[in-house]
This record gives sequence, structure tokens and C-alpha cells, in this order.
Amino acid sequence: MKLANRITEINGGGSDGWDVFYRARQMIADGAPITELTIGEHDIGTSLEILGAMHDSARGGHTGYASVPGTDSLRQIVADRIATRTGVETTARNILITAGGQAGLFAAHTAVCNPGDRALFIDPYYATYPSTIRSTQAVPVPVRTTPDAAFQPTADALAAKAQDAVSLLINSPNNPTGAVYSQKTMQAIAQVCHDNDLWLISDEVYDTQIWEGAHLSPRALPGMAARTLVIGSMSKSHAMTGSRIGWICAPEPVIEVLIDLATNTTYGVAGYIQDAALFALGQGPAVEEAVAAPFRRRRDLTMEVLAGQNIVRALPAQGAMYVLLDIRATGMDGEAFANALLDAEQIAVMPGESFGQAAAGHIRVAMTIDDAAYVAALQRLVEFAKTCAD
Ligand code: PMP
Repeated sequence: MKLANRITEINGGGSDGWDVFYRARQMIADGAPITELTIGEHDIGTSLEILGAMHDSARGGHTGYASVPGTDSLRQIVADRIATRTGVETTARNILITAGGQAGLFAAHTAVCNPGDRALFIDPYYATYPSTIRSTQAVPVPVRTTPDAAFQPTADALAAKAQDAVSLLINSPNNPTGAVYSQKTMQAIAQVCHDNDLWLISDEVYDTQIWEGAHLSPRALPGMAARTLVIGSMSKSHAMTGSRIGWICAPEPVIEVLIDLATNTTYGVAGYIQDAALFALGQGPAVEEAVAAPFRRRRDLTMEVLAGQNIVRALPAQGAMYVLLDIRATGMDGEAFANALLDAEQIAVMPGESFGQAAAGHIRVAMTIDDAAYVAALQRLVEFAKTCAD
């Protein structure tokens, strides 16, 4: 029996660059003491207070079908949070609650791309971006950034790909590069959207993890609210990765059609998860800062470990929970280095190539283990890189 192209072509053929990750997972399953610095999962779990709210809601009976667009109170608190943080008027009708940011990314592209449409995204990129775009039958088109430009997309690179495109997906703070887009970059992005009549899909799931500069939501730029779909998530901000809860903030007509999509796909997010999210957001920014604090610390520790040598180099991450390390001085590519590091030091990192050609010759390190173990692993990584470069 033949499966639909829509599903068989999601991954686009070829390696997805995750071989090292799966190999490390297999080694762990076989009992090897691997230090995992691979995926973006906090080393703390969801807080007991949030779990308490979840428990109370479930025990209180919110276990039936929940409101498909999201509960009124959750949509409202998300709208208020966005209005406060960005200064843009936002109502509950601009918000759809989704099963995490990933479901939001899929829904957003489904809303704006027809099959065959060109959908731009920035390279390096979060690993699911091209396949998410392909799963809506649009055509993913990368826009390259470079380490020399601190991985900020330039007006020229954007303009070169924008003709005949329908959408542009951006991510600031960025996974994997740690770049936080400057005002100038955001203005260039807004300009290319205006000039080419593009929808902008702005993935802001790391907006609480800013180490340098300030988070700027492009929806706040003149004229952009009408063409921007913001993707938000509780995964990173509140260590709720497994709860699968996030949102899309978009113009009302977009939200209306996305409610139809949700009705025919997820049929909404579990009510007790929504209530836990409502409780969590009601705790205000102090909780978010506490969840982000370990990554801020480890980002500074990273720069201390890397000081005084130039075999492993990093642009200081401006945000998010990763550092992208340039290991080109070893003469190896990211994949070869990550494989060799796993074998020699039992440290698992992601090859840059998993995040696109623009990240070749780099590795991504997730700062997701406790400070002392993190520093020790990074020191071993640097020493190992030196031996490769000899
Ligand atoms: N966007 C980016 C840039 C991410 O790194 C991730 C998860 N690592 C997501 C979206 C999806 O996150 P979630 O579905 O857990 O909200």
C-alpha cells in the first residue's frame, strides 16, 4: 500500500544529522556513563507548585474536553503578558493555545502556506524547521547567516531569497546560535516582509532567556502585527517541556481558521495542563527568571573555560540555553568531532550540521547539567579539541 507523499517526504531524504544523538542514547541504554549536552531539556523538572496546580485542577474535575481554542482565562493572561512585554494591544481573540511551540509552528505554516509555496527560514535553524514546513507541503528555503555576522540575518541575504516566497520563519533568541536579533536585524526583517508581502512567523519560545541585549518581538514594529504570527511556549520559560503547552498570537482572522485546524487535529489541550499554565503565568516574571538563572550562570562559566585558548571558540551566547562552539581549528567537521568526542570522552554534543550547513564546523552544547559537571565536561572537551588540532 502506498503512503501519501505528504508524510513520506517530511524528512526530505538523507541524514537528519541526529546519528550522534541516537548513538549516545543507545550507549546510555547499554549502561555507559555518558555526559549528555544534547537536547534542550532543563536539569530541573516542572516546579512542585505548578504540579500542585495541575493536580488540583485534575482532582477538581477539569479532566473532560477543554475549550478547543484554550480556556478564556488562559487566553486572557497570555494576551495580557504579550501586551505588557511588547506594548502591542493584544486580546484573548488573538491567542490560540497549542500543544507546545512545535504544534504552533506546524499550525502557523498550515495557516499561511499553500502546497508548493516557498517558506523561508534562517540557517542555522532549530532541527524541525524544514520538516515542519515540508509537512504542510510548502517548500523550505534556507536563508544563510554567518559566524562573521554573529548569525544575524542580513537585509541582502533576506532580499535575495524573498521574491515569490510567502512566509519567513525567524527565531530570536536563537537555537542553536544563541543570537538575539538586534533592532537593525528586526527592522531588516520587517522591511523584507513589507516589500515582498510575506507572513512573518516569529518563534519566541526562548524570550525569557536573554543574557545580553533585549528581546524585541517583531510584532511590535510598525505595521507588523497584521502579518506576524508569534509562537510562544511554556516549555523553556517554565520548565514544562512535557506538558506540551504553548500558543500562537496572531491577527484574529488567522486565529479563527486555526481554531478550525485545532478542532480537527488536537481538539485542544488538556484542561488541567491549561490550568497549571494559568497558575504558572500568574506567578509573574520572578519564576521565569529563576528558571532561566542556571543558563545565565553557565553561559558565563562557558566563557571562563574557553578563555586563554583559541582551538574552541564561541560567540558569547546572547540568549537561550545553548552555546555554539566553533571547532574548525581542529580540522574536523562538527559531525566527526562530535563522534570522536563521544568515543574518547563519553560526552555527547550535537554536531552543528544537524542545524544546517551554516553551522558546519561547529558543535552545539546544551548547558543543561549542573554547574560543576558542566564546567568539568567543557574543560575535557577543550583538552580533547587541542589533541585533535595537534
Ligand atoms: N522552537 C525552538 C527554537 C525550539 O528550540 C523548540 C524546542 N527545543 C521548540 C520551538 C518547540 O518547543 P515546544 O514544542 O516544547 O514548545
